[in-house]
Amino acid sequence: MKFYPEHYKIPDERQKPFIDALEIETFLNEAVSTKEEVLRIIAKSLDKNRLSMPEVAVLLNTEDPELVELIKQGAKELKKKVYGNRIVLFAPLYVGNLCSNNCKYCGFKSSNAAAVRKTLSDTELVNNVKALEQNGQKRLILVYGEHKTYSPEFIASNVKTVYGVKTGNGEIRRVNINAAPLEVEGFRTVKESGIGTYQVFQETYHPEAYKAYHPSGRKADYHYRLTSLDRAQEAGLDDVGIGVLFGLYDWRFEVMGLVRHTNHLEACYNVGPHTISFPRLTDAADFKVDPQYRVNDNDFTKIIAILRLAVPYTGMILTAREPKHIRTEVLQYGCSQIDAGTKLEMGAYSDKKEKVTQNLNKEQFLINDERSLAEVIDELLDTDFLPSFCTACYRKGRTGEHFMEFSVPGFIKRFCTPNAILTLSEYIMDYAGMETASKGWKVIEKNIVQLIDPTLEEEVRQRIGKIKAGERDLYF
Ligand code: SAM
Ligand code: SF4
Repeated sequence: MKFYPEHYKIPDERQKPFIDALEIETFLNEAVSTKEEVLRIIAKSLDKNRLSMPEVAVLLNTEDPELVELIKQGAKELKKKVYGNRIVLFAPLYVGNLCSNNCKYCGFKSSNAAAVRKTLSDTELVNNVKALEQNGQKRLILVYGEHKTYSPEFIASNVKTVYGVKTGNGEIRRVNINAAPLEVEGFRTVKESGIGTYQVFQETYHPEAYKAYHPSGRKADYHYRLTSLDRAQEAGLDDVGIGVLFGLYDWRFEVMGLVRHTNHLEACYNVGPHTISFPRLTDAADFKVDPQYRVNDNDFTKIIAILRLAVPYTGMILTAREPKHIRTEVLQYGCSQIDAGTKLEMGAYSDKKEKVTQNLNKEQFLINDERSLAEVIDELLDTDFLPSFCTACYRKGRTGEHFMEFSVPGFIKRFCTPNAILTLSEYIMDYAGMETASKGWKVIEKNIVQLIDPTLEEEVRQRIGKIKAGERDLYF
């Protein structure tokens, strides 16, 4: 490994900026991809070791199709070995699109006068949650523009409202948040309302590019955003999600930024991010982004495989911004969560009117996968995945669970698979059509047999019996 001058290194200090563009560029410029090195790095990851920044740079600089294929195969193997076949499902719920920022890529930007601005009232929020529950959703992420209306108290009140909505057997058991960075006190208020993960995407880790895309408003301050999840940690909110909006700057730099952010959180707080998101730019109203950094499908799938190998124990979220064929491919490389039945127009879940086209003046950006939750579940079952609505770890206080999944022997077989089976059983009983139910029970049986431990198998079968008899929310 090369020696890097000391001044490139920014020490990891709590609530202090930690990205050094020169350091990242140096790693990228110096990394040489050879077959021997790529194989060594993949083997290191499969051996459950985190990769270093120079090692990630080698994978990012790999262009030989044969070696790229090895990277993808490595990610597939890691996914199988570590995570099994569960895919956790969730839905985004846009609560309000008032925004005082001017992000050049986003339809909610304050300068977009054509945007139809709306914030859901409590009644509208409840009606939307009811509609989501009636489809079988159990996990939501509430999404907000950045505006003084969306104070920590406002968000906390929304969270409590959502948890209070019950529709038949339906209930939301985990509420995550994607909203603007807060002060420590604000994060504390939101945490106390019982949220799961708080997500803040840096959008681009490159300081100069960041400045160009965020000309005004609170979000113009790169460092305030960069250190937001440090403040969350200081508030005791240790379940945080990071992300990059791919298409704003060189994707190699951005992947290095995500890895550096992960290192920083681990170094300072002893816990890495719970999830990594990698939205790719899609069209939005008043879209002002130079296409030079758009990421093509080949590079996008490679990015996901590299991220899987680089941070093997972090959850990876793929959204409906991506079309079905890309979603299907990258699920194999280790994405662990996807949204389904997604609607971005405010209030649309409870809107009975059949919508024909997406409306850019009402939505933040366009999505490319408009399938219903039922359709997505059907496809997951057809392709041997195990759809899961599990919310057990966070409710049992098992934080850092992805680390546990990765490092505690038998954790997935003992907890994750049984909980996926039980939540899928509930879904089948309450929401599935006959065909899906029949496929679903077959997939469940196949997964029960693979649990291997006869006592656990018996316990799972007993609980399924209880679910069939009407009990709900049984988990390990
Ligand atoms: N307003 C808050 C913020 O900016 O952090 C909350 C999140 S914003 C509503 C959700 C995310 O959508 C942003 O962080 C950004 O990554 C993503 N986004 C914005 N415009 C997009 C576009 N045109 N295509 C894809 N994703 C986009
Ligand atoms: Fe506002 Fe967030 Fe859109 Fe930026 S990305 S304009 S902050 S909603």
